[in-house]
Amino acid sequence: MGTQAVNSDISIVGAGVIGAAIAWQAARRGHTVRIYDPLLADGVPQTGASWAAGGMLAPFSEGWPGEDQVLDVGAQSLARWPALAAELLADTGIDVLTGRGTLLVAADSADAAELDTQDRWLRAQGHAFQRLGRGEVRDAQPALAKNLRGGLWVEPELAVDNRALLRALRTAAAEAGAELIPHLVTDLPGQVVLAAGSDSAALRPGLPVRPVKGEILRLRRRPGTPEPPTCTIRALVRGRHVYLVPRPDGVVVGATMCEHGEDRQVTVAGVRDLLADAEAVLPSIAEYELADAMAGLRPMTPDNLPLVGRLSDTTIAATGHGRNGVLMMAITVDTVLAELGGNPLPQMKCLDPGRFSWN
Ligand SMILES: Cc1cc2nc3c(=O)[nH]c(=O)nc-3n(C[C@H](O)[C@H](O)[C@H](O)COP(=O)(O)OP(=O)(O)OC[C@H]3O[C@@H](n4cnc5c(N)ncnc54)[C@H](O)[C@@H]3O)c2cc1C
Repeated sequence: MGTQAVNSDISIVGAGVIGAAIAWQAARRGHTVRIYDPLLADGVPQTGASWAAGGMLAPFSEGWPGEDQVLDVGAQSLARWPALAAELLADTGIDVLTGRGTLLVAADSADAAELDTQDRWLRAQGHAFQRLGRGEVRDAQPALAKNLRGGLWVEPELAVDNRALLRALRTAAAEAGAELIPHLVTDLPGQVVLAAGSDSAALRPGLPVRPVKGEILRLRRRPGTPEPPTCTIRALVRGRHVYLVPRPDGVVVGATMCEHGEDRQVTVAGVRDLLADAEAVLPSIAEYELADAMAGLRPMTPDNLPLVGRLSDTTIAATGHGRNGVLMMAITVDTVLAELGGNPLPQMKCLDPGRFSWN
């Protein structure tokens, strides 16, 4: 696992946000890039986690005591996002940012106690955000339900339209010179970046990446109905987490979490719970159109940090991004390009796949 010489001929397996972003930036820096994904034939892959995602860039509101390093890496990646989004806008004309700030709210006293725990932990990690009382929550977003207990305003977080992001990355990668090849890779020839999401272990048996199913809904605003919120709303509703992420035409409501192997079916219970919890927070969504329901597979690792770094002299892993792959796309690109250039980032040593023994 030592420092490698620059190899300018790279094959990338997987064209989700991770593979496509690496392809774009690597091609931009003069590498010869081929990116493989069987689903590229139809435009951008529409069954991977990247198509399903909510698009939150939310290391703080997603964070939880015990996940200090996930918070730290996520915060570093968030800091890189504005420059990356601006570069993508300049290259493609597509602005992927759709929301600024996250408002965390609690539905009852037990939910409020959990919010206190999260707030205390974030402060202990050096991230203090503004607490809001019941009235202040409604002043911030008047369409929210009246009975919410209070909230936490996390101003620096952002949200992107993940589907627009996939399209923009594909365009940017192709224009930078990357070759897009609609093909399922079965072995790993030459200098390879493995970015196959929850399928990564099929190519490197034993790699500690497992699928964790998430169901998610897209609701479209209908004429005459109230506007969607202007920031991401995350709520605890009787102990269940729900989020509403703004889009120009509505909101994305997510997401369930279940360890069901390769199951990608959307269940009645999943849709029922998501809609009930979202409506408890933002009653006006009942008038929106239910435009899309899908399930995606998060590529999870045992410690919830991605695997980014060398697996061998010829293969670099860029996978295992779990709940935060859109957020961590930015830092992953930096880490992989540094590795390809022969100058690995010391501060990203915590992502080295070698932290697990897996074969
Ligand atoms: C419901 C849900 C909500 C989420 N919300 C958020 C969020 O708000 N914010 C956030 O940061 N993250 C979120 N995530 C997580 C995020 O979506 C993932 O971490 C991220 O999309 C992983 O990207 P990827 O490119 O590694 O994987 P994928 O998007 O799954 O892409 C992998 C690609 O590899 C291809 N592939 C697989 N095997 C091969 C092969 N052998 N040859 C060629 N190609 C292959 C597949 O076809 C696929 O297109 C969410 C995930 C889910 C499921």
